[in-house]
Amino acid sequence: MGGQPLFILSEDSQRTQGRDAQSSNIMAGKAVAEAVRTTLGPRGMDKMLVTTSGDVMITNDGASILRQMDIEHPAAQMIVEVAESQEDEVGDGTTTAAVIAGNLLAEAEDLIEQDVHATTIVEGYHEAARIALEAIDEQVLEIDVDDDILAQVAESSMTGKGTGNLSPDVLAETVVETVRRVDSEDGVKRDDIHVHAQVGASSSATELIEGIVLEEEPLHDEMPTTIEDANIAIIDVDLGVRTGDIDAEYSIESIDQLNAAIDAETSELRETAQTVVDSGVDVLFTTKDIDDRIAAVLADEGILAFEVKNRGARQVAGATGAARVGAVADLSEEDFGQADRVRTETYGDDDLVFVEGGATAEAVTLFIRGGTEHFINELNRTLKDALDVVTAALDSGEVVPGAGATEIAIADRIRSAAAGIEGRKQLAVTAFADALDVVPRTLAANTGTDPIDALVDLRAAHETDGRAGLVTDGESVTVADPIELGVVDPADVKREAIESATEAATMIVRIDDVIAAE
Ligand code: ADP
Ligand code: MG
Repeated sequence: MGGQPLFILSEDSQRTQGRDAQSSNIMAGKAVAEAVRTTLGPRGMDKMLVTTSGDVMITNDGASILRQMDIEHPAAQMIVEVAESQEDEVGDGTTTAAVIAGNLLAEAEDLIEQDVHATTIVEGYHEAARIALEAIDEQVLEIDVDDDILAQVAESSMTGKGTGNLSPDVLAETVVETVRRVDSEDGVKRDDIHVHAQVGASSSATELIEGIVLEEEPLHDEMPTTIEDANIAIIDVDLGVRTGDIDAEYSIESIDQLNAAIDAETSELRETAQTVVDSGVDVLFTTKDIDDRIAAVLADEGILAFEVKNRGARQVAGATGAARVGAVADLSEEDFGQADRVRTETYGDDDLVFVEGGATAEAVTLFIRGGTEHFINELNRTLKDALDVVTAALDSGEVVPGAGATEIAIADRIRSAAAGIEGRKQLAVTAFADALDVVPRTLAANTGTDPIDALVDLRAAHETDGRAGLVTDGESVTVADPIELGVVDPADVKREAIESATEAATMIVRIDDVIAAE
């Protein structure tokens, strides 16, 4: 082959190779992790994110921030995925995972400068991650994970988040109570927990509803607002005058004929209404329409009726055991569901219906209220994290000390193990330990404490006392045993953070060629 150059890529595609590719990927990954660093821990700050359409979100939640940031760089995108998989797997620890991933990349960059080959770094990181997981097992507290510990887990995940004037310890108790409600022999049924955030009334009330909450209003003003021991029916058909599938026209030639037609229609409606009334139903949900005149009859008879969306109908069916019915004539007792109470409430412009004490489901709803949409949304995210960590802790029964103590212990363990590892891989293993120091260091920085001093103090305390974290308690920040001050995290949150951060970092380090099509 001589002379002629050979083009295999289109002219518009861009290609970066070797060190350039590595360093630009690493830089992008680090930048993403850096973006969430200041939100970590009880003194983490919030971020305000504005979408292109002008919507504003104020949040402290790592995964939410990264998701909203609309990140395009493929390597940066991988760090976003770290946070997302962390969120999917365990629900919390997203900032921690992203920050560790970013620091694994920063350490890798140094190693590459020292001519440590990417493959060696990857091997060393995997080795270190394995040691880290063992170290986490050792950190698992040998205690019974009871309600007090669960409340501590919940509170640890909530301190520093937007809970407004709702005190975290009261919220933590509500969260534990909620999770306990759906705990069974097969584990926690997390899907049975709903959170309903209601804007309005700067109330500090958060209630646990034993059932579901739907945003629907009764079809008629005169309907009852509360029904106890309710028979519940769900019907998927219009309640009104039958309309044919074909267009038909009647020609009416006299007033008598017109009256007869109206009478026929009225009696048909009355008959339909009567069938509903006779069935013995107390509360009727329909996914279709109900004629106003039928609604008026139902109201007269003390029946409560709602038009709901398909999703709402499914929830009602799940909670009350009602079977969905396709024809009015089929309404019968055996298809009814039951609930202890169905009640309607109005909050500002919103009408809500509460279906409580349903016969078939243990579905519960955390009903939260607060002043503004922003506050409610962030509280929603905070409670979701808290519900997830309590679920994780209860399901596995494993918790570890928080406030950076576990990370210090892992790093210590990795450093001791590194001594026995030959060659340059040792450098990579040690670098992994250094990357974990970022968690206590960041907790320190975010409280305004000098990160280097804090780390030195922490390590010293870890040496002598065996367990030490940088604990924020009210106004003070001290090196102390996190357990004594009730700062505990589920072990699974730490495991997942190590695994997902390692996976993303090693994947990024291994890339030495980026070919981007136009
Ligand atoms: P993430 O998204 O990683 O969950 P957070 O902002 O929720 O980030 O911070 C979690 C970290 O804060 C954990 O390491 C946890 O142990 C720590 N933490 C929670 N409460 C305290 C506290 N009172 N003092 C010090 N650290 C705490
Ligand atoms: Mg958290």
